[in-house]
Amino acid sequence: MSLFRTFLIAALCLIAGGSAASLRPETVRVAVVKGADTVRIDGAMALLTDSRGEPLALEMPLEVKRVKDGVQVNGRTLSGLVVSAPVRVAVNGKGYRGVLEVSAGTERGLLVVDELPLEDYLVGLINCEISSAWPMEAIKAQAVIARSYAIFQKNARRGAPYQLESSVMDQVYEGCDVEDSRAARGVQETAGEVVTYDGKVIQAFYHSNCAGHTESSKTVWGLSIPYLRGVACRYCQEANPIGWELKLPLKKVEAQLKAAGIRVAGVREIRVLERNESGRVQDLVVIDGKGRTIVPGVAFRKALGYSQLKSTNFEIRMAGDDCLINGAGSGHGVGLCQWGAKQRAADGFDYHEILTYYYPGVKLAKEYGQ
Ligand SMILES: [Zn+2]
Repeated sequence: MSLFRTFLIAALCLIAGGSAASLRPETVRVAVVKGADTVRIDGAMALLTDSRGEPLALEMPLEVKRVKDGVQVNGRTLSGLVVSAPVRVAVNGKGYRGVLEVSAGTERGLLVVDELPLEDYLVGLINCEISSAWPMEAIKAQAVIARSYAIFQKNARRGAPYQLESSVMDQVYEGCDVEDSRAARGVQETAGEVVTYDGKVIQAFYHSNCAGHTESSKTVWGLSIPYLRGVACRYCQEANPIGWELKLPLKKVEAQLKAAGIRVAGVREIRVLERNESGRVQDLVVIDGKGRTIVPGVAFRKALGYSQLKSTNFEIRMAGDDCLINGAGSGHGVGLCQWGAKQRAADGFDYHEILTYYYPGVKLAKEYGQ
């Protein structure tokens, strides 16, 4: 980070009465737009520079387009654009805090990265990942794991243009317009706190709803991580309808498997071959004109789309030309179960008890701040 940028973020925190309450706040870089052909930027009292820090005098709002050598802003070509404002900068109508950088993406379209104090990021994240109407101890648990996850990714992706996606690929983040006082309270009451194992910040994976048992990292990613073992969780089943159903034409499933690089042709049947100890599908067998192909459950879910096939906890059967899938839960199942945490909080457990339940063997530590 340039000295100028560091100063700018610190100054913005002071102007906005910054929740980070530190002159050198921990910051994160979040990709808030990727691959868009154009973006519209707006904001009161915004400071504008190009990517080298040269001040720009441009009329707001800004229409930014990807061009061959960089970006075009209101008809002017620049290598990149940096925007900051005392309160918020609007990107396609959504408000963001901190400093926004617009540049040509490495693949196509525009990349917009928001660099902001981690604690501010967490306040916005609460209502994207859960709801601030949930019990306060569940909000605090979410704040601590999202902070831990962000710090882990920040260290792992040091030197990359950004460290966090704003989607389920990392953590959902829709900017500051969804912040509220309960979300801010959950973040402030756990300020700087992270989950550690063996003295190091953990990779705090979490998911929406495990439907009865969380999953070990080994069965999803093939890697045993001591604090990511599966644990029983009956709490999420009381709080939320967990079942889901899908009816998909077999031809469509075949097309999606092919698009994911799985070589099948003329699929006749798909069956569960094996389940793991948490009950989720470990492997499926796909029977086509040429024989049998074994497809891991996690690869099948990825091929069909994470939002369509909500988890690998499902049964599948054929009905004529269709696949009927009955499933339960939502997400990869690893780490904390958000709906389970909600119920545990409602049952009177505090966030420390919730976290040490879902991540066996961990401790809480103050990573920074007072
Ligand atoms: Zn659960």
